[in-house]
Amino acid sequence: MKPLILQHVAIGLRNGSQSLIAPLDLTVAPGEIATVTGPSGIGKSTLLAFIGGHLDRAFRADGRILIGDRDLTKIPAEKRRIGILFQDDLLFPHLSVGDNLAFGLRQDIRGGAERRKHVQTALEAAGLDGFIDRDPSTLSGGQRARVALMRTLLAAPEALLLDEPFSKLDSSLRDEFRSFVFAHARRNRLPVLLVTHDDADAIAAGGVRIGL
Ligand code: ADP
Ligand code: MG
Repeated sequence: MKPLILQHVAIGLRNGSQSLIAPLDLTVAPGEIATVTGPSGIGKSTLLAFIGGHLDRAFRADGRILIGDRDLTKIPAEKRRIGILFQDDLLFPHLSVGDNLAFGLRQDIRGGAERRKHVQTALEAAGLDGFIDRDPSTLSGGQRARVALMRTLLAAPEALLLDEPFSKLDSSLRDEFRSFVFAHARRNRLPVLLVTHDDADAIAAGGVRIGL
């Protein structure tokens, strides 16, 4: 895996002079979990949207985003190979757990049997063996969170963006899920950018800390 690199990234609203993100330079090494903290409304989600390729038209942005020497700045979101996990897991309610995971699975894995095998392996890794045909609404919050993470990882991203993914979980689940996410990110040697309100997350992450 390669580092995620931000070069002079600056973001502001198009219709105003107000700057949201002042020029920011950052390198997140493979397996490193960098954290972004700051008050509500400061621009944390907007920064992740720019990196992921989903920046709203209301904003203008300068600077470059790279993974290793691959410049992503102008390529469409679906070609960036960046995984994003939000506070709300956004599992499709009309699809089974297995079909939610298959939706995330990268396209170059073909054939029903082969795809199902990858989904099964992901479920086992998440401690959810036997959950393939379950309706997402029958899962606990922690189980849903793990399915959402596995769905993101099945796309084989080269970097992971986490937008307060733990904040809706209660504290015991929160620690457990955080360890689970961090372990997977480190095992896959993914550069990770984590937006959080919680100092404990930043300490557990142990990477570079950016205060906005
Ligand atoms: P954070 O994630 O740090 O809480 P956001 O990145 O969501 O903050 O938002 C940054 C600022 O941009 C906020 O003031 C928010 O109201 C504003 N904002 C977010 N989305 C839009 C949009 N589509 N159009 C205009 N302003 C927006
Ligand atoms: Mg936000």
